Amino acid sequence: LFVENELGSGRTIAVEGNQANYLARVMRVDEGDAVILCDDLTGEWAASVTQVDKRRVQLEVGQHLRLREPVPDFWLCPALLKKDRFDLVLEKATELGVARIAPVVTRRCVADKLNPERADTIVTEAAEQCARTALPEIAPVAKLDALLRDWPQDRHLFFADEDGGEPAADAFCYAEGPAALLVGPEGGFDDAERAAIRAHPASVAISLGPRILRGETAAIAGTAVWMAEAGD
Ligand code: SAM
Repeated sequence: LFVENELGSGRTIAVEGNQANYLARVMRVDEGDAVILCDDLTGEWAASVTQVDKRRVQLEVGQHLRLREPVPDFWLCPALLKKDRFDLVLEKATELGVARIAPVVTRRCVADKLNPERADTIVTEAAEQCARTALPEIAPVAKLDALLRDWPQDRHLFFADEDGGEPAADAFCYAEGPAALLVGPEGGFDDAERAAIRAHPASVAISLGPRILRGETAAIAGTAVWMAEAGD
């Protein structure tokens, strides 16, 4: 269960809204039950339920269990995809341990916006399921040219390129420092976009094999290769 503020033992906190609903109706917690709380700053805390009603659950915070685990400084920059496919990217990128998800709009994107509340719910549920103690940051949707213009100098920009690039595992395993993976939409990058990406000083084209993958497959597989080679 993720809570916003920094926790301190010996405190009581009240959980309300959707999370209270989840505790009371889905998990059916009762007074005296044990709960693990995560907050983004300090990690995991033990807590016990002291009061339950459907929209509000009171918890007594106990001892500190686990510090927030460091996540690899890896960003995933996926072009927006159709809703359910992008939902899958959000969920799997969270499980795989990315630090930041930075959605990109390109000329051939079918979708051009993201529902931030829905995205936040997906990554929170994924983090709870895989017991992460930190949520990935979800950046505002950016146009590709703005993303390239504002790209941080010290961060590798690996570009998933189905038209050829270095095998991902080779490129990743020698990379030092923070990195990101940029993946195109259902229709791919157009020629001008591809040229702009390749011209960027931080970009390195990487291949995920000889087949044309769906955008969500490339985003998830590319992230998994990074985590296996250089991340976790
Ligand atoms: N050009 C593709 C086609 O001909 O159907 C459309 C793009 S593909 C569905 C979506 C994105 O996944 C691409 O823009 C690229 O970023 C990534 N991708 C797909 N297959 C890949 C591969 N084998 N290696 C690297 N990236 C790949």
